Amino acid sequence: MKSFIQPEFHISRDEERCIHCEVCVRQCAFESHTYDPADGRVTTESLRCVGCQRCASLCPTQALVVTEHPRQYRTNAYWTARTIEEIYKQAETGGLLLSGMGSDMPHKIYWDHLLLDASQVTNPSIDPLREPMELKTFLGRKPQEVKLSHRGGTASLETILMPQLELETPILFSAMSYGAISYNACLALARTAQQCGTFYNTGEGGLHKDLYRYGKNAVVQVASGRFGVHKDYLESGAAIEIKIGQGAKPGIGGHLPGEKVDQAISETRMIPEGTDALSPAPHHDIYSIEDLAQLVAALKEATRYRKPIIVKVAAVHNIAAIASGMVRAGADIIAIDGLRGGTGAAPTRIRDNVGIPIALALAAVDERLRREGIRNEASIIAGGGIRNSADVIKAIALGADAVYIATAAMIAMGCHMCQRCYTGKCNWGIATQDPYLVRRLNPEIAVRHLTNLIRAWSLEIKEMLGGMGANAIESLRGNRLRLRGIGLSREELDILGVKPAGESL
Ligand code: SF4
Ligand code: SF4
Repeated sequence: MKSFIQPEFHISRDEERCIHCEVCVRQCAFESHTYDPADGRVTTESLRCVGCQRCASLCPTQALVVTEHPRQYRTNAYWTARTIEEIYKQAETGGLLLSGMGSDMPHKIYWDHLLLDASQVTNPSIDPLREPMELKTFLGRKPQEVKLSHRGGTASLETILMPQLELETPILFSAMSYGAISYNACLALARTAQQCGTFYNTGEGGLHKDLYRYGKNAVVQVASGRFGVHKDYLESGAAIEIKIGQGAKPGIGGHLPGEKVDQAISETRMIPEGTDALSPAPHHDIYSIEDLAQLVAALKEATRYRKPIIVKVAAVHNIAAIASGMVRAGADIIAIDGLRGGTGAAPTRIRDNVGIPIALALAAVDERLRREGIRNEASIIAGGGIRNSADVIKAIALGADAVYIATAAMIAMGCHMCQRCYTGKCNWGIATQDPYLVRRLNPEIAVRHLTNLIRAWSLEIKEMLGGMGANAIESLRGNRLRLRGIGLSREELDILGVKPAGESL
């Protein structure tokens, strides 16, 4: 039966430019382009196109233009084209709608309603090209006080310090599992983390045996499916992250389809080849803060208290109270993932309708932990839609110690945000296990792009810090006086703990 669904994208081929070289045919895993040997011409089928721009980017004569297809539905501000097509899709398939990447709904972007301060006249700014500027960040439980003993004219530290992650810049790569992303993408993230003095996160897919050598820069994740979790895995990472939830799909588990579980992934995840990897929604041993405390304690015990334990949750309505419980359960670092967090696959309804924006969640958590006098007991990593260095610095002023980035890292590697990661056909070689597609991501080039991104953001952070008259990121942490809000209601300003633009100290 003919589908009611109209093409999302329109491919126009300039016949004068097209040399029928078949590059587009080979590049499109969605088979939008076909070559007809009978007439020696390439033709296109727009309905299959997902708008990844691979063919247009690689066409040697720039003969292709891929644009959004103007949908022929009567204009209706309530029953939009997207709504109508989603109903068509569900009527035709009877299934859940799936999406990759983070929510693209027009929810308010709080970062764009926050403005940074700058020094003028009375408090001179600092030029980062001439003065040292410190972005080094330590993540982990801090002591309430430091005790020194003095003997023979030398002081020595008596306080036992808990293990810390030492970062050259307050940016880490968020969880992206081997299976959801390709081996080459995992390798590029690991090598970049090592080169930039930061950390990447294995996600819940275990750690490929070749990547153990990057363990000093890895956060190894323990999620509800416990895929790939064993003694050597826990020992290999610099920190262990217990994943309770993620911003793209709060409250539900994960699903890696069996087609993606090849021999290497089956070995790494410790599951049979070709079987679906289903992560349950809850951890079956965690139903309370006390249960979480037991797992935190067990992981610390298993690794002889040498590694900080991170607990990661999605930003939900009651996040401040949850975060307080996590800290009291022994988490050394808490990671909060906001509404815009990305994923390889999520039910579209959940991705777009569940959770809260990271800026609000972060401000609420930082304020609650300070009020309870336990802010020092855990560092905060904020994630879920960090787009640029200004978002990073605003997150830090709202109370984060560091940020997790994932979507931005994928874009740096070549992702064009087509949101079809769940198909396993990523034309850019990132969210795929197809050996033909994986080869498209050159790890050397990806490392160069990722290190450039971290370097560029770090330089911009230094510029903005210097402009505020600060020479260390530490002095901005939780300093909401350096932020002002625009276009926000009184309630939003109160939750964020910032003054409106125009109001003085
Ligand atoms: S899916 Fe990508 S490669 Fe295929 S036709 Fe569309 S833009 Fe081109
Ligand atoms: S990772 Fe690949 S499939 Fe996923 S959004 Fe990016 S380009 Fe598309």
